[in-house]
Amino acid sequence: MEKKDLYDGFLQLEHETSAILAQLAALKTDMATVLEKNAELEIENRHLREHLEELQKSSDHKSTGAVELSKSKLNLENLYEEGFHVCPYMYGQRRVNDEPCAFCVDIIYGEH
Ligand SMILES: [Zn+2]
Repeated sequence: MEKKDLYDGFLQLEHETSAILAQLAALKTDMATVLEKNAELEIENRHLREHLEELQKSSDHKSTGAVELSKSKLNLENLYEEGFHVCPYMYGQRRVNDEPCAFCVDIIYGEH
């Protein structure tokens, strides 16, 4: 191998390596954002569960039978209308673009 080829090869490798390092840095930033968002959603989810539990407890104390049931369903309906899932599959997660969810609707309006 000529000295020039060797040098060109080295430059090429150096160039590629710095491109990979830049990609790694970008990935690291994206990962931090995702982890941060995930932690945020976990906290939000926990708060929603606690909130719902409180609402259900207070309606349990105040009422009986059919009224109790419809009150807790109203709470679920409120959460759903605020844009959150109340179905067991995606409980507490945001409904993307307020898309309707058949599981949620079944839980709120279904005959259970
Ligand atoms: Zn749902």
